Amino acid sequence: MTDSTESGDLRLTGISKTYGGSFTAVHPLDLTVPHGAFFALLGASGCGKTTTLRMIAGLEDPTTGSVLLGDRDVTRLPPYKRPVNTVFQSYALFPHLSVYENVAFGLRRRGAARVRERVGDMLDLVQLGDLAARRPHQLSGGQQQRVAVARALINHPRVLLLDEPLGALDLKLRRQMQLELKRIQTEVGITFVHVTHDQEEAMSLADTVAVMNGGRVEQLGAPAELYENPRTTFVANFLGTSNLIGADVVSAGGGEVVVTASGVRLRLPAGRCATAPGADGRLLVGIRPEKMSLVHRDEADSVPAGRNRFTGTIAAAGFIGVSTQYLIDSPLGPGVEVYVQNIERDPRLTPGAEVVVHWNPEHSFGLDAAQDINSGVETAGDPS
Ligand code: ATP
Repeated sequence: MTDSTESGDLRLTGISKTYGGSFTAVHPLDLTVPHGAFFALLGASGCGKTTTLRMIAGLEDPTTGSVLLGDRDVTRLPPYKRPVNTVFQSYALFPHLSVYENVAFGLRRRGAARVRERVGDMLDLVQLGDLAARRPHQLSGGQQQRVAVARALINHPRVLLLDEPLGALDLKLRRQMQLELKRIQTEVGITFVHVTHDQEEAMSLADTVAVMNGGRVEQLGAPAELYENPRTTFVANFLGTSNLIGADVVSAGGGEVVVTASGVRLRLPAGRCATAPGADGRLLVGIRPEKMSLVHRDEADSVPAGRNRFTGTIAAAGFIGVSTQYLIDSPLGPGVEVYVQNIERDPRLTPGAEVVVHWNPEHSFGLDAAQDINSGVETAGDPS
């Protein structure tokens, strides 16, 4: 590890990893992480995100490709010579050293100056100044993780790599630590590359998220962009919940695509289709459950003109406080999910009730119908 005041983007060019000559964990990948970005690699277990991180750290040799920091090719440098540091889920603190000495360790080993001042600043940054004399076992999981972050940041790496750093914490603490990490990153302005399988964590922390699947980046973008405009079924299902409806294209023109699904006519903006409808004229129409509204059949006339709509029957209703989640059976298929905010609940909306589901056509997106409609469903999100 060296101090560096240089800046520069982190660039991966054609980087890949094949184990044992046959199994490819990471397919050739080109990725640029702008200097100072909070970048997340998101994906299910085994998708290759840790392998990618380890290649950046120098803990794994890439089979092909290069790792560049600014203009400098660091591919062949050992980990300790890269201006990069890693925080692991396991913290890896020295149990016999105090918080202060854990953070000071790297500086002392390098014979750096102003150790007391720098450690003090770093402990202030992670808000552990009062606990400097404690040993790791006298700290909570969240506090230990903050020591690990302070220890990794003390040498001013240009890139901080975080490998499921909050994975060992319970849900509430994890949410708190997410806010902490975001604050720390904003304060230090260093590039953070954060690996997680938790889509909420990735979306709340990162400016840019790369969704990985099977050793490839399926889609990369700002969280809202990925959520609103998924380009694949995997991304649509892995990031939140999507209703995906197979449909036949009736017409495409004037910026609008018209489809029918089991006799129901739906419209969507052409600009929100990931691919032009295929030769067979099929498309998957996607709608997020919270974008849909629900009225009892007797109120069908209240649905404004121009909305996409279909009639169905409530198969199940689950009250979860902030909203009620309905499953609707209809000609479009079983189990269309609709989330309705609990503002004025209609007591008639119970299982068995006939309803009209409707939404703004602008809120639909179109995906290539050749894909597996359930891709990303089984593994989505964090079960906790
Ligand atoms: P997790 O969230 O479970 O850590 P991940 O997305 O980080 O998953 P990786 O650890 O990058 O996944 O592993 C990607 C694939 O490469 C997995 O199928 C894994 O079994 C395989 N793999 C990882 N390390 C090795 C190794 N040393 N030898 C052979 N295969 C490996």
